[in-house]
Amino acid sequence: VSVRLVETIGELRKLLQEARRRGQSIGLVPTMGALHAGHLKLMEEARKRDDIVVVTIFVNPTQFNQQEDFKNYPRPLSDDLKKCSDAGVDFVFAPSLEEMYPSPPLTMVAVAELTKHLCGPFRPGHFEGVATVVAKLFHIVQADRAYFGQKDAQQFAVIQRMARDLNIPIEIVPVETVREPDGLAFSSRNRRLTLEQRQAATVLFRALRLVEREIQRGVALVEAAKRPAVALIGAEPLARFEYLDVADPETLHPVANVTGPALIAGAIWIGDVRLIDNIRVSA
Ligand code: AMP
Repeated sequence: VSVRLVETIGELRKLLQEARRRGQSIGLVPTMGALHAGHLKLMEEARKRDDIVVVTIFVNPTQFNQQEDFKNYPRPLSDDLKKCSDAGVDFVFAPSLEEMYPSPPLTMVAVAELTKHLCGPFRPGHFEGVATVVAKLFHIVQADRAYFGQKDAQQFAVIQRMARDLNIPIEIVPVETVREPDGLAFSSRNRRLTLEQRQAATVLFRALRLVEREIQRGVALVEAAKRPAVALIGAEPLARFEYLDVADPETLHPVANVTGPALIAGAIWIGDVRLIDNIRVSA
């Protein structure tokens, strides 16, 4: 099997129109490339349900808060193409910046409320950038389904709501977080960690599990349930704490008391690499 690389919107539309005419369903997997086991899981899920799988690789500048992070973002395109090929992907859509943004967009998609907490306040404009580029991809590909990872739980909620609010006829399929054996969630940014930092990075997942343990042993007050986990992160010299929250899984607003299913989410910095992760807990 060999994947076909498509670089223009026009060509992709033409190829997909032909597939649609043949009655084939289309599954979309949006990524920023530097593909890892998490992305491969999305492709695998897409492969199960859809006849044609389209992976998009586009490092979207409008969702970055720091120009440096955008510049340093890994872009190993030929490795990525090989991985997509091995995963049985039909088309990789990897447009240039000019193809996606021939001029700076005057139209942006903003999803309120769901972006008020968790990563939102730390990344002003980020979710607008994400929602806008994903809306563009949805209109370019017109897929039947799109696959998104739970590792980015807030992003998932934002995109699901955006599709619903804007009546975009697409099913948004959640895919569970894929982790390394020591619990660290796969992330393209992990490859920027030194060996020492890579070891330290596991502290985030360990902290989430610690909050979960506290909740499961009956500590309902979030402030108290968080305390040992915040201390754990504080004790890791290579990690800088950003936030740790327990949120309502629907509204993503932080809760003070855990009374039902909840999302435990957090972010830390290791050097200049920002890592996020989350798990679900039922009290
Ligand atoms: P990214 O390339 O980081 O923008 O991610 C593209 C897609 O892959 C998003 O839907 C992510 O949620 C998903 N993803 C990233 N990391 C993981 C992971 N460790 N497990 C599952 N999905 C992931």
